[in-house]
Amino acid sequence: MSLYLLVYLLWCALIVWPPAVFSAAGLTLAQLISAPLGSETDSFVVYQCRRGALTAFVHSALPLGYLLGMLLRDLPPHTDMLLEPAFSWWKLAWTLALIIPIYALVKIAEWYRDNWALHPACKNLAQYCDSNTSLSSLIASVNAEYKSVQKIIISTNETNKIIVTGNWIIKVGFYDLKFAQQNDTIMIVKTADTHQLSPTSGGEQFINIEVKSMRRNCVLFHIRINSLDFKDLQSNVSRPIVILPNIVFHKTIIEKFIEVFLDQISLNDKYETEQDLELCIGCMQTVADIKLYKQCTNAQQRGEEEVEQCQSCGCRPMWCADCMGRWFATRQDPDHPETWLSNKCTCPLCRQVFCLLDVHYVQVVRS
Ligand SMILES: [Zn+2]
Ligand SMILES: [Zn+2]
Ligand SMILES: [Zn+2]
Repeated sequence: MSLYLLVYLLWCALIVWPPAVFSAAGLTLAQLISAPLGSETDSFVVYQCRRGALTAFVHSALPLGYLLGMLLRDLPPHTDMLLEPAFSWWKLAWTLALIIPIYALVKIAEWYRDNWALHPACKNLAQYCDSNTSLSSLIASVNAEYKSVQKIIISTNETNKIIVTGNWIIKVGFYDLKFAQQNDTIMIVKTADTHQLSPTSGGEQFINIEVKSMRRNCVLFHIRINSLDFKDLQSNVSRPIVILPNIVFHKTIIEKFIEVFLDQISLNDKYETEQDLELCIGCMQTVADIKLYKQCTNAQQRGEEEVEQCQSCGCRPMWCADCMGRWFATRQDPDHPETWLSNKCTCPLCRQVFCLLDVHYVQVVRS
């Protein structure tokens, strides 16, 4: 294999599957050629149609780029050889390399008519039109929902992402985007697969979800996300996601620890207070029901001289049990989870040292 072919293949791989550093440095296709694409925030649908068309064209021209590069570098086959009447594989390669981008251009021109109305994405969206809604009003509503802050974006890689807005589930792919309207869509977690990153790590789990609209003629599509993003997705879609009984979600080591942490602290004494509980400052979702105060005795502190002594924290309850467990876990040595339960941690605010025996649920008592 020639060096030129190797370098060209590497360059193609970087264009098609840009690594994270490329997008951070603004080197993906959509970032390099951003001016004609317009603003994704202001006109999401048209932006995605343009981006998909541009990507399709650039990808389709990659083989031609390779052959042109060979001509410029004066590598064989030379022009005179290509002009001979006899058949050669190089001629076939040149013909195909020319036909593919021309076909892509013809397709793009077809999509472009009527302001991208014939683009597969707009055709997909048009399936949600009825007597009261036109395609342009649907596009406007998707744009407005994308612009609002009430959405989540789950990036599956540098070019693909899943967006959930108030009414839509949108999958952005290489060339295309797919829409499903939340109120008539069924989502089913069909399969899950785990990829081992290293022998010690628990591996990364990916789940594949079928997104099926109940409308006639709407094609179903699949989304594939890291199982860590599932909760986020689940809490942002308006309908329950069906999980097939054979799917088992892997817990991260932190989630497993939090379960044990919660079991352990429920055995500790309760801390009684007359004050109302505020919202947890970690998650802002549940009440802050945890108070730290020293209850362990020195005998329970593993009898080691060098172990830091627990102190009493004077902070009012500010954290929920989940957030405190997460805080505790993230302050531990990730390579030695077997030591976490017996280790210590510091109060997130005053930095006083505490152990698991010093974590207490708060009980509000009324006098
Ligand atoms: Zn919390
Ligand atoms: Zn404190
Ligand atoms: Zn302690």
